[in-house]
Amino acid sequence: MNNAKPVAIVTGASRGIGAEIALRLANDGYAVVVNYQTNSQQAEQLVAEIIRKDGLALAVQADVSSLPDVKRLFEETKARLGRIDVLINNAGVLQVVPFAQTSAEQLARTFEINTYGSFLTMQQAGEYLQTGGRIINVSSTTLALNMPGYALYNGSKAAVEAFTRVLAKELRGKEITVNAVAPGPVATELFLKGKTEEQIAQFAKMPPLERLGQPEDIANVVAFLCSEQGGWVNGQVLRANGGIG
Ligand code: NAP
Repeated sequence: MNNAKPVAIVTGASRGIGAEIALRLANDGYAVVVNYQTNSQQAEQLVAEIIRKDGLALAVQADVSSLPDVKRLFEETKARLGRIDVLINNAGVLQVVPFAQTSAEQLARTFEINTYGSFLTMQQAGEYLQTGGRIINVSSTTLALNMPGYALYNGSKAAVEAFTRVLAKELRGKEITVNAVAPGPVATELFLKGKTEEQIAQFAKMPPLERLGQPEDIANVVAFLCSEQGGWVNGQVLRANGGIG
């Protein structure tokens, strides 16, 4: 594939926040790799939409919790697009379950995807990213709220925030920034699934701005951190949540 653009890998980009980030980065001039786990149809639709708008994108299936898959994701990107400048670590899962009732399987799966998955992609990014690159991890504002039922999810994201701060320092000399964005509630399947209308309305009332976040709200912040203007922000967690917590 003939490519002269900087290249961004967005994990979990078949839908939700990741899809909006992929669209925005394509619009900002990146060639975008739309990673997904199972949802090839939505990933291919997004790629087609980007190409229709004169952008460059390709879909790559990879389970972020699998080392061979993550290696293949980076190898294939490099082989097909020639370089890698940005990693957006967005793939994630949420299970809201009381601490006492959390099973070992639930704990393992959440940490495999949210924590180990981020660890694997960050390791590869440290190796592959060009000078001036960006790593952006998607954490969550729930970490600051300590709501019942969120121990598993918050634990998995707390580790990612810790990785963010330390890797920013370990990449000294490479001119690569490492940051995290921590959204509040955003109207996607991950947030909406399993909640009643009443619960959703309660969450929407939480921020002083009195609405749920939209994927564009988060894509705007990610785009800023990817831009030259965002280049002096490093090792930080940016809470994008309309003022909750
Ligand atoms: P979503 O709508 O459920 O989308 C999740 C995405 O992650 C999908 O593209 C899915 O791919 C992908 N994915 C899941 N497991 C994967 C795996 N093992 N390997 C590769 N891809 C995988 O979720 P979202 O709301 O957009 O959330 C995106 C990120 O934002 C997550 O890290 C989440 O924790 C964080 N976040 C969300 C909110 C919120 O309120 N929505 C708030 C704070 C933080 P498939 O389509 O193939 O399944």
